[in-house]
Amino acid sequence: MNVKNESGALFHGVGINNGCVSGKLKFFQRGRTGVEIIADMPSAGVPDVERARLERALTQLRGRLSELYRRTLADVGEQEAQIFEIHAMLLEDEDFTESLEREIANGCRAELAVQNTAQQYAALLKGLDDPYLSARAADLSDLSEQLCDLLNGTERRVQEKGGEPYILVAEDLAPSETVSLDKSEILGFVTFGGTPNSHTSILARAMGIPALVGVGEIAPRFDGCLALLNAADGSLTVCPNESQVRAFQIKQREENELAKEHERYLRSLINKPAITRGGHKMLIYANVGEAHEIEPALLNGAEGIGLLRSEFLYLSMDRYPTEEELFESYRDIVRKMQGKRIVIRTLDIGADKQIPYFDLPREENPALGFRGVRICLAREALFKTQLRAILRASAHGSISLMVPMIVSVEEVHRCRRLLDECCAELQNENIRFDPNLEFGIMLETPAAAIMSEELAAEVDFFSVGTNDLTQYTLAADRQNPQVAEICEENREPVLRLIAQAADAIHRHDGWIGICGELAAELQLTQRFADMRIDELSVSVPYLLGVREKVTACK
Ligand code: PEP
Ligand code: MG
Repeated sequence: MNVKNESGALFHGVGINNGCVSGKLKFFQRGRTGVEIIADMPSAGVPDVERARLERALTQLRGRLSELYRRTLADVGEQEAQIFEIHAMLLEDEDFTESLEREIANGCRAELAVQNTAQQYAALLKGLDDPYLSARAADLSDLSEQLCDLLNGTERRVQEKGGEPYILVAEDLAPSETVSLDKSEILGFVTFGGTPNSHTSILARAMGIPALVGVGEIAPRFDGCLALLNAADGSLTVCPNESQVRAFQIKQREENELAKEHERYLRSLINKPAITRGGHKMLIYANVGEAHEIEPALLNGAEGIGLLRSEFLYLSMDRYPTEEELFESYRDIVRKMQGKRIVIRTLDIGADKQIPYFDLPREENPALGFRGVRICLAREALFKTQLRAILRASAHGSISLMVPMIVSVEEVHRCRRLLDECCAELQNENIRFDPNLEFGIMLETPAAAIMSEELAAEVDFFSVGTNDLTQYTLAADRQNPQVAEICEENREPVLRLIAQAADAIHRHDGWIGICGELAAELQLTQRFADMRIDELSVSVPYLLGVREKVTACK
């Protein structure tokens, strides 16, 4: 509901984050998007030509989505990065691709085929009586806009670089646009449409950008006007009068002071151990996917890296990396750690992480199929190349090795045997490595949790992968937005499995950490402290908050 006052206008929307910011409004002019340009084009095309154009655009978009995934994982967090995994999945959806093919076979230009298909799907989603699913319509239009832009060679740029920071105003922002916003250039954003459930809002929340969504239309004449955005009460005052500005500045100062004080407090915790009031110490480690994330992790008080997703080097290449390339990359990473421990997880490919040159068979149920350690045990040469590289790097710092997707003691034995073979080979070749390298496993299948007593006798440590443990315990695909709610609402079975495993592991004087997303959920920290979990490993943006929470636990 938007009201005019004597000096300007007051708009209301749903606030995302709590910040108060003031600055000039800048309206986002998308220009003519790929979708609009096609209105001026012939709608018919030659099927073979259009098919080839579409395939090219799809390949480019897949590359762009995996780049957005990587960037969001590094800058924002894993849950948020998954938005782009979901986008990539939507592109592969059989109904979606079949509809594209049908349109093209009927003689449509590729752009029109994309537009028609996306419109049909968006209408279907919007009509569903489920706010989460209807919000996914925005994801589809984001994808179709990007595809049309790629088909036409047009490019959308949300932000203009340079100049004073401003409040961005847009009809709507796509998730891919939101994650590309440079926080140093914009103070906040306001969208006419959008809902708090949209992926754009989820991203803004995680990026800490004050925003208002669903404010309704704002007239373009306000472009360049001063505005006061209060995300806490969901208001936007455009062209405020003097007393409104003064009152806002007081509120802003108070908020900034509180935020600064909190930040100072968080920073004061960095060099102190995270110990609950009851005296239980938890190590606060970071999850990283690439070498450049290590420095921010250390600056934010990471006491180690609890999960290095070693897939990154494989994903960034178009052929298998050599032992030398892997070794050099691990050695550089371990040197960056300044003596702190790093847990390198061996290759976890398959399911949602596909690499074309691995040439993996297409599977009906990839999450339940050929992935993680299963591939490594079937392709021993591939696995041994990585194990040798990790062992060699272990001579340059503190490395622990961790194997994903374990379901049995037998698998552990097979991994150990290959590791022993690698140690023997390196010894014969007079190549240095750490003979006491710790060997751990991820606890991410219910089988591993149930067998934790036996497994604890075999390995040095465990780290719980709650993302997979949740999907396998609840039989709910972590990639499928339709069952996301099941995962959110049924934490208890997963928590009980972790508690049982923690008891078994501690009986063996073992060590258990958590590196899945649940490690960063502050409402669970007390529960984890009660289980005597030894380490929590989280994405960089959550490090300080988790540390603070541990110190506040009983
Ligand atoms: C997990 O499953 O919780 C985990 C940390 O591994 P990934 O998300 O890489 O599968
Ligand atoms: Mg996992």
